[in-house]
Amino acid sequence: MRTREKRAWAEPFKIKMVEPLRVTTRDERARALAEAGWNTFLLHSEDVYLDLLTDSGTNAMSDRQWAGMMVGDEAYAGSANFYRLEAKVREAYGYRHVVPTHQGRGAEHLLSRLWIKPGDRVPGNMYFTTTRLHQELAGGVFVDVIIDEAHDPNSLHPFKGNVDLAKLEAVIREHGASRVPYVSVAATVNMAGGQPISLENLRATRALCQRHGIKVVLDATRAIENAWFIARREPGHAGESLADILREMCGLTDACTMSAKKDLLVNIGGFLALDDDASFEEARNMVVVYEGLHTYGGLAGRDMEAMTLGIDEARDEAHMTARIGQVHYVAEALAAEGIPIVQPTGGHAVFLDAARFLPHLPRSAHPAQTLAAELYLESGIRAMERGVVSAGRDPVTGHNHEPKLELVRLTFPRRVYTQAHCDVLVEAVCEVWDRRHEIPGLDMVYEPKYLRFFQARFEPRRKAAEAVSLGG
Ligand SMILES: *Cc1c(COP(=O)(O)O)cnc(C)c1O
Repeated sequence: MRTREKRAWAEPFKIKMVEPLRVTTRDERARALAEAGWNTFLLHSEDVYLDLLTDSGTNAMSDRQWAGMMVGDEAYAGSANFYRLEAKVREAYGYRHVVPTHQGRGAEHLLSRLWIKPGDRVPGNMYFTTTRLHQELAGGVFVDVIIDEAHDPNSLHPFKGNVDLAKLEAVIREHGASRVPYVSVAATVNMAGGQPISLENLRATRALCQRHGIKVVLDATRAIENAWFIARREPGHAGESLADILREMCGLTDACTMSAKKDLLVNIGGFLALDDDASFEEARNMVVVYEGLHTYGGLAGRDMEAMTLGIDEARDEAHMTARIGQVHYVAEALAAEGIPIVQPTGGHAVFLDAARFLPHLPRSAHPAQTLAAELYLESGIRAMERGVVSAGRDPVTGHNHEPKLELVRLTFPRRVYTQAHCDVLVEAVCEVWDRRHEIPGLDMVYEPKYLRFFQARFEPRRKAAEAVSLGG
């Protein structure tokens, strides 16, 4: 990469406080991995060198956000921080009403209970784990209506998060508009690799829904990252500010659920925002039962203040260019080494294509789970499975969902790691790649009922177990 290009995404901040990292030996990592049931979610973070498990709540806050933490108004009711948050959400996202929640799934829970009746169909541009689960717990059935390209790790479509309007129309035709309370639109699409949806597609989705009296709900968790892609890739939007694009996106929807732990540069927080007065009254009542009073929703006042300040920092062009630039720097370095990754790279993560990385492993040997475990064993770097384990089972038939993609997600916390860390990561993946043919698969030996990927336990396949202990 030429120097000039690196400068284009160089970090627009300097480091004021550091957190030491622990480097472990391979023996220590082998022990830690066995204790964790070969599930990177069950590792102790102290045993992790670079933690790329998730970009959720792992962000480094700015000095201003930390200063904001000191002006937390911890009143039970009517905290000043809530009113500042409410005003900022209205300004940035444009919805009239705001209900704070402890994180994204709190908002998903409220909205699902509010708008889904048993037997309803909820179309969406690919499922997300907690989103779909709350839809199902409310009696709904999720239907995937994302374009086919999203399921193809080689497709270079610039907006792989787009809704397939023909698929959406077919769902409406089959079940009737009255059984489709809303369409669930994620921007960006986490499970497709952080892929953006275009404004044009969102507008067309909105128009189709309006014809049938169906609402549109935005999962705005990474909507500002999505806006960055629109400014870069969508004709007619070059040079438009992230703030303007965000407002335009939200303006095409009726409500949003938000996990502030992603875009908004905080460690905890979320909200439900919507326009409809009656739904707001109900949500504001329900939040008291499940989260906390409607002026704190399970958060401390200081958390709301950090979130409010994060909304401004996240819409800053230089911040977002550095954030996404870092992800793309790693992706380009891996691709240059011939490592199979999902193309094009999305906003928050680089996805290794485990199916092509470990083609000798059948699905039943959990290739992505295996690759994540091996990367940890090699380097102490923690990644996450996004394949057959994350997809879970069909609640009706009990059969495994078989997603087309079998991926390992290298997720980048915002403002946390340096370019040297990125280079170490690339080296580590290459080292696993060099010995990929010797890598055994994993069997699942414990499977929890809900969101199994968080707590499932695995064991190396028999023959392979020997190879691993020799290697370890
Ligand atoms: C993380 C996430 C959620 C859930 O939010 P939590 O804060 O983890 O509860 C919902 N949707 C998307 C797209 C996410 O990435």
